[in-house]
Amino acid sequence: MSQSEPNASQEQTRDSEHYQVVARRYRPQGFAQLVGQRHVSQALSNAIQTGRIGHAYLFTGARGVGKTSSARIFAKALNCIHGPTPTPCNVCEICDSISTGEDVDVLEIDGASNRGIDEIRQLRQNVSIRPSRANYKIYIIDEVHMLTREAFNALLKTLEEPPEHVKFIFCTTEPSKIPITILSRCQRYDFAGIDATAIAERLDEIAQKEGVTAEPGVFETLARRAAGSMRDAQSLLEQLLSFAPEHIMLADVHAMLGTADDQRIFRILASINASETATVFAELDTAAQEGVDFGIFTEQLLGVFRDLMLSACDGDKQLLMYCPPSRYDEVKQLARDLGLHRILAAMQVLDQTYTKMRYSTQGRILLELALVRIANLQQLQGIAVLIEQLRTGTLHPLPVTQHVVTGTPNAGHVAQSVPQGAATPAAVRFSEMLPPKPDTVTEKKNDAVTIEEVKKPAAPPVNPAVRKMQLIAEASEHPMIKKAAELFGATLTEVKSS
Ligand SMILES: [Zn+2]
Repeated sequence: MSQSEPNASQEQTRDSEHYQVVARRYRPQGFAQLVGQRHVSQALSNAIQTGRIGHAYLFTGARGVGKTSSARIFAKALNCIHGPTPTPCNVCEICDSISTGEDVDVLEIDGASNRGIDEIRQLRQNVSIRPSRANYKIYIIDEVHMLTREAFNALLKTLEEPPEHVKFIFCTTEPSKIPITILSRCQRYDFAGIDATAIAERLDEIAQKEGVTAEPGVFETLARRAAGSMRDAQSLLEQLLSFAPEHIMLADVHAMLGTADDQRIFRILASINASETATVFAELDTAAQEGVDFGIFTEQLLGVFRDLMLSACDGDKQLLMYCPPSRYDEVKQLARDLGLHRILAAMQVLDQTYTKMRYSTQGRILLELALVRIANLQQLQGIAVLIEQLRTGTLHPLPVTQHVVTGTPNAGHVAQSVPQGAATPAAVRFSEMLPPKPDTVTEKKNDAVTIEEVKKPAAPPVNPAVRKMQLIAEASEHPMIKKAAELFGATLTEVKSS
């Protein structure tokens, strides 16, 4: 139904009357235009074609994925003068008035502001009145989960024995808040988050219709930022159009979003990989001058590390969420260089930093701290290897592994955490020795050695390996090595004495 979409010149004339936002102007008008919800359009079209139309529908999904748009399309499909038809004409008076939300027989109710029993009672009284001109009287209740319990109960009575001429379409972002009695009387359709590529293509189409050109990467960046929400993506585009009304540059996008461009992020990652912390500071400083928001930047970095993790786990290229597929080889190489354990530890650091940032005005310092810590994870990896060598060199043929294998009860969970010769578990364990989250000090996890235990006074030395660890711990300047050696000495002592 592309004829129903305005072109640039039509838009000009409309401009003078009243301006309509992009997301509204380009709202899909038929099932074929609904982006990313093929299964829903297919099922609803089939229902109409075969005449199997239920009396209550529930559309669930995140915001901006097309629930209300689908509800309107479905209403048009049922009530169009040529209907019921899966392809409503979009020109008849009924279609037109449904599109603008002004139809007398299609009532759109906002569940958030009409949530009480009185509103639903009113609705129940009106339900019995026949539609004035169309086939059905259709109630679209948005954010239906906001209704009160009493209101739901009142609604249930109508849902149990609805008049033939009434259809309900409920939309919600939180289906878990809807009583099971209501759910069981609805046909439920789950709307998926929309794929970034599909969003980017749609934005491109809209921009062309608006007569605006854009630098490559603009729509992809906006689409990734919108995280599956078409409406969010279109609102961002709208904002951008007032920023750059003729040609959109990637720099405009980053300036508006407060994000850093991909090149900067990859330069920072390369510096982290090479432990060049001075460069990290310089890059962050330039980013600050360009107006990058450090909270959003941290989120971006976390996203990129998520893609690195995916790549380190040999995940499919199609599953990249934050890096453009064109950078896949770069991501792959970086993931290989960093190693999975450093990536995991870095994600923990960034996640904690992001949480802290919400309660702090020192975003920049927190991010600097996080990145320097991540850059120094290189040394952690080295320590893990060193300790592993020491362990395999001195422990064989001490019966440590036997304790682990048989799971001697009094060996406790410290013994369980002693790795059985592979380098990986040790590396994981040391990554857990990063400055702890507050809860790790008090909460004992079965598989993690907490800092409290590290500080537990060691038993008198019983063998040379333990003594050696104590000496390393005493002599070491580096807090990580100190902790590692202490932990290892304590573990040996405990295993020996049990
Ligand atoms: Zn029509």
